[in-house]
Amino acid sequence: MSARIIDGKTISADLRGKVADAVHRLRRDRGIVPGIAVVLVGNNPASEVYVRNKSKAVAEAGMHAFDRKLPATASEAELIDLIGKLNADKEINGILVQLPLPKQIGAQKIIAAIDPDKDVDGFHPLNAGRLASGLPALVPCTPMGCILLAKTVRETLAGLEAVVIGRSNIVGKPVAQLLLAENATVTIAHSKTNDLPAVCRRADLLVAAIGRPEMVRGDWIKPGATVIDVGINRIPGEGGKSRIVGDVAYPEAAKIAGAITPVPGGVGPMTIACLLLNTLRATCAQNGLPAPKV
Ligand code: NAD
Repeated sequence: MSARIIDGKTISADLRGKVADAVHRLRRDRGIVPGIAVVLVGNNPASEVYVRNKSKAVAEAGMHAFDRKLPATASEAELIDLIGKLNADKEINGILVQLPLPKQIGAQKIIAAIDPDKDVDGFHPLNAGRLASGLPALVPCTPMGCILLAKTVRETLAGLEAVVIGRSNIVGKPVAQLLLAENATVTIAHSKTNDLPAVCRRADLLVAAIGRPEMVRGDWIKPGATVIDVGINRIPGEGGKSRIVGDVAYPEAAKIAGAITPVPGGVGPMTIACLLLNTLRATCAQNGLPAPKV
């Protein structure tokens, strides 16, 4: 058996197109243009690439991108001051502070300083609490992308045995909360889990968010399972070049799974598409409009 490939590139392009259409209608009918501020502190090369890609996608969706850059030496107080200004700015509906931050700045303090209504990353404790309580919330983008991808191959997630490997605040925990909200039976596995392969073999839906290249082997997968691989790991490739692999040993897993996301081209492209959707949702909520149908 060979798994169906869940094509994140195509699915995310479709979502971005739908968001762009909704943004167009918002501008035409209400004169509202969603605006997002992406804040970059320092010059981490990977972060610079992400921020450039995000700003390009924001512009392509017809939204306004307000990029803000602070030097690597910026203090926590300076960044909090900038966030205060962005919180007060009516043209800005979403605020995203690119992580990681330089070590003199506490990420949790910064996340807590963002207006929860503009928290398009969904990392603010209020949004995390709302998600955990089953209340409407801005939901973290990568976890939202995982659920949307799983739903392209499963009519419903209700009743499925779902196993999430990883318990980080930005991926593992919110994925598990979202799966619970979809009425899956959810197990969260992590670095202290006993007999991880046996836990994984129970899963109809397996989400790997570990950060360990190809750790999940083919014989950990239940035949026919849906596998969502969040991992992005750079490993040495041929000819001195590096290549990107996920947390799942794809060639082995694809022989056993019913459907699987590739890396790259699976979960990765969904993250920015979901950021655009969150910004659109935040804009509508801030203007007293119903949630957009996307
Ligand atoms: P993290 O390091 O914060 O968390 C990793 C989790 O994996 C931890 O909860 C830990 O308990 C668990 N873990 C570590 N070693 C383990 C082991 N041997 N067995 C079982 N569990 C183990 O990482 P994160 O921020 O959650 O990211 C996870 C992966 O997802 C990384 O590869 C990251 O690059 C990737 N990621 C991708 C996107 C995307 O857009 N596609 C977004 C965020 C993160």
